[in-house]
Amino acid sequence: MNKKFFYILVFVVIMLLTGCGGKSKDVFSENPSFPPPDGSSLIGYDGRIYVSKELATAINGIDSFDAEKRYVIAYDGDTYEYTYTAALESGAEVLTVEAANNEITVRTSLFFVFSITEDADYFYITLAGPRTKYAKIVMIDPGHGGDDPGAEYGGVTEKDINLEIAKLLFKMFENGNSGIKAYMTRYGDDFVYRADRPAVSNAAADLFISIHCDSYPDDTSVGGTSTYYPSDAASNVGRLKAASREIAGMVQDDVSAALGTRNRGIIANSELVVLKDAKIPAILVEVAFLTNDGERAMLQDGDELEKAAAAMYGAIVRALGGK
Ligand SMILES: [Zn+2]
Repeated sequence: MNKKFFYILVFVVIMLLTGCGGKSKDVFSENPSFPPPDGSSLIGYDGRIYVSKELATAINGIDSFDAEKRYVIAYDGDTYEYTYTAALESGAEVLTVEAANNEITVRTSLFFVFSITEDADYFYITLAGPRTKYAKIVMIDPGHGGDDPGAEYGGVTEKDINLEIAKLLFKMFENGNSGIKAYMTRYGDDFVYRADRPAVSNAAADLFISIHCDSYPDDTSVGGTSTYYPSDAASNVGRLKAASREIAGMVQDDVSAALGTRNRGIIANSELVVLKDAKIPAILVEVAFLTNDGERAMLQDGDELEKAAAAMYGAIVRALGGK
């Protein structure tokens, strides 16, 4: 994603939040009132996806392939080809809808939930922000990714460990009964701009947790767990800062205890983009040091990563008041 696209993304997020302005209103408004489809197309997109009952007899549900933020809607009926790209006036794509082989595929860089309604002539699939469906949402941010490896030491790359822990944590929310929905800023080895991470999270989540590993090559005996939260100087209002600090303390103590690492405490930070641009409580966990032999071995041990993820899970569920 280039920088220009990022600004457009921020614009879209703002439009999503305010529900006003320009062409994006038609694309993302959560409660649009649409005229009936014009009948020129059996599948179409006018801010919702509509599917004519001349074509489809049933919508079979919507699968989310989170790795690519791609959603696939399967239907019973005949195959039909359709392509739509929602673009802002600048030409940047924000959403594509494609139909073929009895499937409609939606690709987007934002997070959505879908609802299906129907009348006598059409099925309608409406896109809305995740908050309209889930009461509590956590955004898990595996630090670095793609061309940005993060710290590298002793043949171990930080971005991989971060992703592994993040996936374990994500699964705990998927499989657990906390009632909290989790999303991830990346699901694979993808490059994500630092500034995009809070940008997509602010509109979609109640808590942002960035997962990292620490590094200090000058002294490889240094080890332990630290957790950062936004300082006074960061742009957070006081309430968010207090919530961030409290959650940081809970996660910090639990992760450090679970792994048996030195508890280096929580640290206020005014520089980290993912913290200072957050409009929701935000923390960044440095799980352990890649440069410390013992901790690097631990970070390559799946059981230990599971312990770290479980500690984060427990602390987040307590913090967000999950079931
Ligand atoms: Zn890092």
